[in-house]
Amino acid sequence: MPGRLAIFGHPPAFDTPLHVGRPNLPDKQAILDRISGALEAGWLTNGGPLVAEFERRVASEAGVKHCIATCNGTAALELAVRALGLVGEVIVPAYTFVATAHALAWHGLRPVFCDVDPATHTLDPERVAKMIGPRTAAILGVHLWGRCCYVAALAAIARGHGIPLLFDAAHAFGSTCHGNPIGGFGVCETFSFHATKFVHCGEGGAVTTNDDGLAERVRRLRDFGFSGGDRVTSLGINAKMSELSAAVGLTSLDNMATIVAVNRQNYDAYRRRLRPLAGLRLLSHEGPEKSNYQYVVVEVDAQTTGLSRDELIAVLVAENVLARRYFYPGCHRMEPYLSDAKTAATSLSVTERLADTVLALPTGLQLDERGVTRITEILSDAIANADAIRSRPGRRHAA
Ligand SMILES: *Cc1c(COP(=O)(O)O)cnc(C)c1O
Repeated sequence: MPGRLAIFGHPPAFDTPLHVGRPNLPDKQAILDRISGALEAGWLTNGGPLVAEFERRVASEAGVKHCIATCNGTAALELAVRALGLVGEVIVPAYTFVATAHALAWHGLRPVFCDVDPATHTLDPERVAKMIGPRTAAILGVHLWGRCCYVAALAAIARGHGIPLLFDAAHAFGSTCHGNPIGGFGVCETFSFHATKFVHCGEGGAVTTNDDGLAERVRRLRDFGFSGGDRVTSLGINAKMSELSAAVGLTSLDNMATIVAVNRQNYDAYRRRLRPLAGLRLLSHEGPEKSNYQYVVVEVDAQTTGLSRDELIAVLVAENVLARRYFYPGCHRMEPYLSDAKTAATSLSVTERLADTVLALPTGLQLDERGVTRITEILSDAIANADAIRSRPGRRHAA
């Protein structure tokens, strides 16, 4: 029996499953104390003190004048495009979570999918420049994996065409770009504080901006169009964050430095241990910018490893390491975009390669260096036994 892999019937390496994006919950008592305070006060939403404190602290962390907290990150994006009054087409990467595109389409905008740069997996500015047309209303960049996208180059293009540039910063809270915190770039940026994000509210999000007028419009749209008292001055929706979510979010912020430090240790351990494994390329968090290290992302070169990305995932899942593919098969290959003839005809070679080869590994507080070592041993065993894995009877994940 080759190796000691669970896929061959051995016991799994981990008793409890490790998840990509398992919620970091370092201090449950502090969450309960805050929630208890809100219950005592009988103040659960509508401009409560916990949301106000959460907004102040996010704004300060992001180095930005205004933070408007929302019920989730998708709503934050929706409020942003609505407040900007965008009409027509918006250039977005196809390699992102589908919410980036859906938030536009939900408001009648057409996402125009652009390919990404193979090194960073973020919007390729040269391709963006070529895609600008008469109907282009804005560029929406995505800071992926906790690293920033090409902000300066995108800003130059947007400025040249007189169109707004905004960012989906759902992955990038606490990270920097050009030495400054992400949150203050473009006309606005949006964050997600979903449970899978390293700092989270369970469900939550925010719009951040240095533009007073835009902040005021976002606040109004978030709250049914109310602009003080019972005066309704525009269309609006309910996208408010509740005090209960803010209680989780504030506790998460209290522990942010610890979470980043653990993510970083895990990343460093992965980097050391994956280096000898040919065919697995770890996405770099090195360089001058600050990263939150919240995603450990590997590109699998099946020619070299002898196993496809999906075969490696099957090996890991059997060991209770619930590694995942990400953004498969690319937004441009998902509905409703696939049914748009123009989108269906788009071929985005880098996005499609990444969708087929990217593997996200667990990190966060659930994991320590020993766990990382064990995971990389599994990968190494799998590669060493690639032939046996491919030819084992009853395999479910044919390449
Ligand atoms: C998580 C995420 C979102 C959506 O955030 P929600 O809070 O889940 O609505 C949007 N864009 C990206 C890139 C994300 O990862």
